[in-house]
Amino acid sequence: MKDKISGKIFEGGLCLCDVCGKKSKLGGFLNPMSPDPQVACYDCMIRISAEEKGISIAAAEKQRNDALRVSRLFTDCKMKEYLAVAKDFKNIDEVNKILQYVTNVWNTFDNKEKDKMAMKKDEALMALFENVKMNWECLMDKPPQKRNDICACGSGRKYKVCCLVREEQEKIEIEKWKRFDTWVIRKGMILMEESKDLDIGSLIKFYFGKKRDAEARRYGITERDMEELNEWLMNDYYLPDEPTPYVLGRLLAQDTLSKDERKLVEARMKAPKSVYMVTFIKKGTGALLRNMFDQTEVFVHDNMMSKSTQPGYALFLRVFPAGPYYLISGGHMSYPPMYLDEKIKEILKAYKKSRQKDGVNLFLRRNGHVFGRLL
Ligand SMILES: [Zn+2]
Ligand SMILES: [Zn+2]
Repeated sequence: MKDKISGKIFEGGLCLCDVCGKKSKLGGFLNPMSPDPQVACYDCMIRISAEEKGISIAAAEKQRNDALRVSRLFTDCKMKEYLAVAKDFKNIDEVNKILQYVTNVWNTFDNKEKDKMAMKKDEALMALFENVKMNWECLMDKPPQKRNDICACGSGRKYKVCCLVREEQEKIEIEKWKRFDTWVIRKGMILMEESKDLDIGSLIKFYFGKKRDAEARRYGITERDMEELNEWLMNDYYLPDEPTPYVLGRLLAQDTLSKDERKLVEARMKAPKSVYMVTFIKKGTGALLRNMFDQTEVFVHDNMMSKSTQPGYALFLRVFPAGPYYLISGGHMSYPPMYLDEKIKEILKAYKKSRQKDGVNLFLRRNGHVFGRLL
């Protein structure tokens, strides 16, 4: 299907437009996520956008130019920032990798925010962009090292007694934290089973909503549904008028947690389920995830996720710190970002309507399951 598109795009960026049929300057794709995207020439693209927004063609053209100016400025600013750290690009693959990361970060801003930016001058934008935190260290490739090589970190010692030790220690540490978390989940499950306050049947109804509940009755609840429900019950279910999630709060009050398990429960209590974009993947280790609501970004250690998702895709999950690392909770599905756009608008609208004074984090914490239902 790629050939279909490239066949329409000629050298110099000219395209055979699917709308007007003329050969002209490439404007873009009308439906980029479709398996058979339509090519539109520059003129058609502007005309369609003017019609959609109910503005003049000249105004639409100005908007498009401003949008391009802003995204180019962001890319320029961030590429320079990377070069200030890395000094130089080693090869074209590195350029592409960094460009893809920068583009993914740019795409975590929603269109309304981008429109607002387009009204600002370059200097004001530069100041804004410099404050967007990037995670360059995660992107830097270390050259492959043999055990007896002099370590690339510059210590002068052999790799096997230098950074290799730290890297192996890190793997052990992450496994250790994952084990602690497994125990926290088990203790939470036991608490739920033994609870006399929880009416699991009606909670299932509430969580799944009418449609999914009817489906569950007809076809049965899948393991994945159950995992999702347990995750919500454990992390996000509040009794009316209680300030803390029911299960996590009770776990903390109990005397059965070790010091590290306690830390994990506290971390889970602070972490809402939110929407993240995968901005960069380190295969076999984890991925950089950027929160679509506040643009903070963390490296999450999860080998499975590093293999099952793609950069630029959106995830709906909970990220929480475990010691010096970050883990994810529950199963996850990834979605193309286009698919998510409307849903995010919907949840932000719901947020405004709810007039929560406590900010988007608590809102997501209490209403994340509703958003999950949207997906
Ligand atoms: Zn056209
Ligand atoms: Zn070293």
